[in-house]
Amino acid sequence: MTETLAIVGAGHAAGQLVASLVMGGYEGQIVLFGNESVAPYQRPPLSKKYLQGELPAERLLLKPESFYPDNGVELHLNEPVTAIDIESRSLQYGDGQTLRWDKLVFATGSRVTQLPVPGAESSGVHYLRSIADVDAIRAAFAPGKRLLIIGGGYIGLEVAAVGVAAELDVALVEIAPRLLSRVASPQLSEFYLDVHRNAGVDIQLSTGVERIEPHDNGLRVTLNDDRSIDTDLIVIGIGVSAETTLAASAGLKVDNGILVDEHCQTSAADVFAIGDCTNHPNPLLEKRLRLESVPNALAQGRCAAATILGAPKAYAEIPWFWSDQYDLKLQMVGLTDGYDDTVIRGDMAARKFACFYLRDGVLIGVDAVNSPKEFMLSKPAIAAGARIPTDVLADPDASLKDAATLWPGV
Ligand code: FAD
Repeated sequence: MTETLAIVGAGHAAGQLVASLVMGGYEGQIVLFGNESVAPYQRPPLSKKYLQGELPAERLLLKPESFYPDNGVELHLNEPVTAIDIESRSLQYGDGQTLRWDKLVFATGSRVTQLPVPGAESSGVHYLRSIADVDAIRAAFAPGKRLLIIGGGYIGLEVAAVGVAAELDVALVEIAPRLLSRVASPQLSEFYLDVHRNAGVDIQLSTGVERIEPHDNGLRVTLNDDRSIDTDLIVIGIGVSAETTLAASAGLKVDNGILVDEHCQTSAADVFAIGDCTNHPNPLLEKRLRLESVPNALAQGRCAAATILGAPKAYAEIPWFWSDQYDLKLQMVGLTDGYDDTVIRGDMAARKFACFYLRDGVLIGVDAVNSPKEFMLSKPAIAAGARIPTDVLADPDASLKDAATLWPGV
């Protein structure tokens, strides 16, 4: 009898999983459940070109909607999975319909962190996770409008850059003493602070929000130092957590994400998890990680497909990520926690540089701004644990490639 593979969540990881299964000749029946109205799509442009109005929604789709029926995949949009019983291998979806499955994949992504202050549910206050969220924000995006962003992480900063380009009057508050404090070094935080301030964004650091109230056709935001900001529109980007509610209530092991092994296998037989919702081992970095990134969603989609197709290949990737703000393309690779030295190559003032992070002389991470070559060459060097002399790293004319090949495994 044909086996049924159910996938919960129709986002980036699920889209890759389905594509890899179809390409690999999977013979079972794939049933894909999404709680949005759109087939699997890419989210990165949401806070960039899509918000800017430069990309139509169809261009966000990973595959045309016809790909799914054409390949025998049952796609249920707007039909969330509401309960899962691992023992009887069944799930409930939509208005209470039931499906029996033989294999199950969680691809439930992340949920946004809600701002825990009075008035955060007011009309005019937005989060940014889905096409529907951006469509609502864009409806209020007009030159001269006042936009307040709460949270100075990548999404907040990308929205600020788009707001400036769209000629809004942009302000941003961040509770930490620096921008990007969870993910970037102080040098990079300082660089982006200058970039945004020079572009006209009014940035308040070490500043929290106490409450939000309707005021004079707009909103008044009271800050934790009793000052207030009046605005027309608020976008909150204060982080996400793994969406694990269903997995936890189904009895899977969850700890800051659904726990999986290097083959995306959860604590239950024939149940897998991929993408943002997982907490997974990284053999190259020798620790467990929860990542919020497209490269990870793609790698785990492929990894779970390989396992399901019976040709398992262990997940082993160095994390990487990117962010586009103004004319700046930032590409990051590796994890920089625990670094004890940094080396800058290039010219920060010219907005073209790479910041290399070292621990005990070993290259562990790179932030490359408008420097794709440094980013590309650093990837294998980090995976190999290379030691590249700091004078080579710092010299834009010295070949990283030649230096990197001096080290075994690169
Ligand atoms: P998602 O793509 O979030 O998909 C999960 C899906 O499951 C969602 O549609 C969710 O609604 C659905 N779902 C959840 N529960 C259920 C249920 N019970 N039933 C049915 N469906 C359910 N990453 C980068 O690498 N670079 C970037 O520049 C970048 N920019 C980003 C900008 C924005 C605005 C956002 C929001 C994210 C960005 N990311 C970026 C992160 C990246 O998009 C995510 O890491 C990626 O989408 C994760 O894929 P996923 O499939 O795990 O989760």
